[in-house]
Amino acid sequence: MPDFDDVGIEKMEEVQHFLSERWERFRCGWEAHIFRTLWPHVKAAMDRPTSCSQCGARLSPEVCHRSVNVNCDSCGSLNTIIPDTIVGTYFSSGPHHFAQEAALERRLAIDRYRHEVDLERRYRGWPTESRASLEKWEAMEEGYWREYAAVRRQVNGESEDSAEAFVQSRIQAFRERHLAAEPNW
Ligand SMILES: [Zn+2]
Repeated sequence: MPDFDDVGIEKMEEVQHFLSERWERFRCGWEAHIFRTLWPHVKAAMDRPTSCSQCGARLSPEVCHRSVNVNCDSCGSLNTIIPDTIVGTYFSSGPHHFAQEAALERRLAIDRYRHEVDLERRYRGWPTESRASLEKWEAMEEGYWREYAAVRRQVNGESEDSAEAFVQSRIQAFRERHLAAEPNW
């Protein structure tokens, strides 16, 4: 049985968890909100026509949120189109903030799970974590990164292969950081 001090520490940890979850929900919601507010301005900047620096004909780049080289349809000269600062900012940071907000509950569930595992191990004198428990953790991490990548892809328009490579890289990093040294892994 836990003694009085353990119960006190546990209560304190519960309060810390409660506060940090509230803070994370607020922070992620707020960051995504800022980028949603930016969108109409970003859209307007992207819709603004660009014209050829040589002949003035209208250019129609396929991608408007990254720097692209476009050949003018009229005179053939090469134009480098650099997006507005607001467009660049939106597409460099927005996808992360939207993805983080969408997948947040999964991240919080992982944090809660890890806290429960630690509590359980603490009571039992820190036995090594079981393979089944580590697999559950890995599956939760994969679920998090899949949802994150799916939302990020909706915003930044990357290819399915690129999104999948990102998910694999995150899972690989997770395994190296958290599972590689586990005796039961
Ligand atoms: Zn031209």
